[in-house]
Amino acid sequence: MYSLKTRLIFSIVLIVLVTVGVISFWANELIGDQFNNYIIRQQDLKKSEIVSSLSRQYDKNSGTWNIDSIHSIGMLALYEGYIIKVYDIDNEPVWDAQKHDMSLCSQVIEDITKRMEERHPLTNGEFTSRTFDLTNGGETIGYVSISYFGPYFLNENDFRFLDALNIVLASIGFLAVLLSVLIGFVLAKRISRPILETVDVAMKIANGSYGERIYNKTDTKEIDTLIKSINHLAYSLESQESLRKRMTEDISHELRTPIAILQSHIEAMIDGVWEPTRERLESCNDEVKRLGNLVSDLEKLQKMDSEDLELKKSEVDLSDILHKAVKKFDVSMKEKGLTVSISGACPDVFADSERISQVAINLISNAVKYSKEGGRISIEIFETKDSAGFSIADNGAGIPENELPFIFERFYRADRSRNRNTGGSGLGLAIARSIVEAHGGSLTVESKINKGSTFVVMLPKNSI
Ligand code: ADP
Repeated sequence: MYSLKTRLIFSIVLIVLVTVGVISFWANELIGDQFNNYIIRQQDLKKSEIVSSLSRQYDKNSGTWNIDSIHSIGMLALYEGYIIKVYDIDNEPVWDAQKHDMSLCSQVIEDITKRMEERHPLTNGEFTSRTFDLTNGGETIGYVSISYFGPYFLNENDFRFLDALNIVLASIGFLAVLLSVLIGFVLAKRISRPILETVDVAMKIANGSYGERIYNKTDTKEIDTLIKSINHLAYSLESQESLRKRMTEDISHELRTPIAILQSHIEAMIDGVWEPTRERLESCNDEVKRLGNLVSDLEKLQKMDSEDLELKKSEVDLSDILHKAVKKFDVSMKEKGLTVSISGACPDVFADSERISQVAINLISNAVKYSKEGGRISIEIFETKDSAGFSIADNGAGIPENELPFIFERFYRADRSRNRNTGGSGLGLAIARSIVEAHGGSLTVESKINKGSTFVVMLPKNSI
């Protein structure tokens, strides 16, 4: 496995190498072609220069050639790689480089051929001869045969120029690669650093340090999203962890109280300290019932969670369900002097009537429990384009804003000291929300401390 940094450096260097390679190859080909064309043009020009200089060496009046000048021109041309032979109009030789200095001509031919074969083998050239007319005032006065290495040849200077060009190209390539490694290194470090730091914190979180957070700033969108996700994950784990601790604490407290009461009562009766009167047995029975209710609530929740939660759906009249649920609290509402109103209407919904009744009972039970003496409970049935549902509002104790996100969690009881007295288990809302969500709906709350709370149940209409 390679590290992210190594991979990034490798990728950047590879991209630069391929780019530099392709550009160098292409530049080499292009420059090579242009240079060859330039050399061919120069050599054609040279030949025309030789022809025109030779043409000027004939004296029309006397019908003679200036042999000395022709010799100079011929020798100069020979040193440059052109072997010339001049003929007069009757094809009689006037001057012949080979005749003049056979060994020098052979030397020139050998040098050029060797140089070209060794250093420019692709040219595949050879010595060829071309004959040109020598003219004076538009009249042909003779001929010149020029032998040269064709189609073109390069002299030492040309090769030096080509070598210098290759060195420049190679240096540019080398510099580009060097720069790419440097830039790649810096870039890779810049990209990988926040990821490595994120990985480091993620490992700490995975090892149980849920309080860890990533505070680094990055200008890369994906890395920023990753950092935010990991921070959110850590926050969720931290709250789950604290909730789990609170839940364990609550379950043990919930179980300990009735068990302690039962134990002390029964022990007192066994020891003969207490007579097992009907009143005392009833008090024990109440505690057993409390335990039973807690266990049955836990069972309900477990059922809601299991995937095979079966809803026995039928056409349900929400108004009927709410009226029946309110009736169950007649006595406790009368004791607290509460008033209740039910308004609004909606078409029948296709739902599990028993479970929706459970939701209504849990919510009304809370509204009654957390209402002050003489409070008011308003129940409203409504429908929207896609949903039907009801809201249950009270003007009671309300829920502190910082507790709101947790009240649907199991065993969560806001303002716990206050709730010890209400005797709730902290499971009612968790059960209600599970039921509503199993129907594809939602249960939400709005609440203000000391002003009251409104719980809203929405059920989808498409299942109506
Ligand atoms: P409990 O059995 O404790 O009532 P729930 O799950 O029904 O458990 O409710 C969780 C917590 O939400 C309660 O302990 C209470 O603090 C808060 N709560 C629920 N309904 C209301 C309400 N209508 N008014 C004020 N607080 C409420």
